[in-house]
Amino acid sequence: MDVVLAEKYGFCAGVRVADKLVRIAVGKGQSGAILGQVVHNESVEKEMAGLGFPTVHRLEEAREHAGRIVFSAHGVAPSVRAEAEALGLAAIDTTCKFVTDIHREIARSLDDDCFIAVLGQKGHREVIGYTKDLDPSRYEVFYDLDEVVAFPWEAHPRVKVVFQTTLNADRFADHVAEMRRRVADLRIADTICYATKENQDALRALCADPSIDAIVVIGGRHSKNTKELVRIAEESKRTIFVGTAADLREEDFSGMRKVGVTAGASTPDYDVEAVVSRLRAMG
Ligand code: SF4
Repeated sequence: MDVVLAEKYGFCAGVRVADKLVRIAVGKGQSGAILGQVVHNESVEKEMAGLGFPTVHRLEEAREHAGRIVFSAHGVAPSVRAEAEALGLAAIDTTCKFVTDIHREIARSLDDDCFIAVLGQKGHREVIGYTKDLDPSRYEVFYDLDEVVAFPWEAHPRVKVVFQTTLNADRFADHVAEMRRRVADLRIADTICYATKENQDALRALCADPSIDAIVVIGGRHSKNTKELVRIAEESKRTIFVGTAADLREEDFSGMRKVGVTAGASTPDYDVEAVVSRLRAMG
């Protein structure tokens, strides 16, 4: 069985930096805790715990881990940073620079008297980071088109739109068109991350190859961008979604001659290499 990797897959620049910053700390003999997964990937979470940086879900828990806390690439609200400081925690901030740019863009737009429309998922950590400290009357988060249609836009003549970085822009074009019809002064910050789009475009190129029988997508169960890759692959190919090589089942590939492989932006290279080797061994 031939195995073809997408031209672009796996760790994005932001996640590589986050991963590296934690490893630098480990190299210095430091330990600590990571607030939420450093990236949405179970293999990375396990590895980090083994290196002395387990995942915690409350800042207070970091006290038992050398009083050091890592903020993930998704970023956190300013009040979380302040709370860490008040608790006397040392922070390693791995917030991706694209996420930091969106925090700045939102702050600027609020000063400019804009209402903030975040296109994204309400419970996503990146979105929580943007909105946690905002006055609820100054923003709304939209995901479904129905929510945009039902919103009372007449009360908000000036609106700034920002996107959760990992969204698929094509799926939100109708949301933006709907807002354009209803808002007099609509300002759009195209904040979709290029890394996500590059992985998606490379996957579409793989899917366009008629000789490929199936696509294997590797990534964390909670990774939004990995799920988006699964959705794109499913549009045209048989798709097998795995976390690691251990999830591959030989019977899923019987009779196949060629498979394509891609991985989410939070999937480490070693997981990709292990999946590719196992698939080649099956062949
Ligand atoms: S997907 Fe983009 S925004 Fe998110 S961490 Fe990676 S580079 Fe940063």
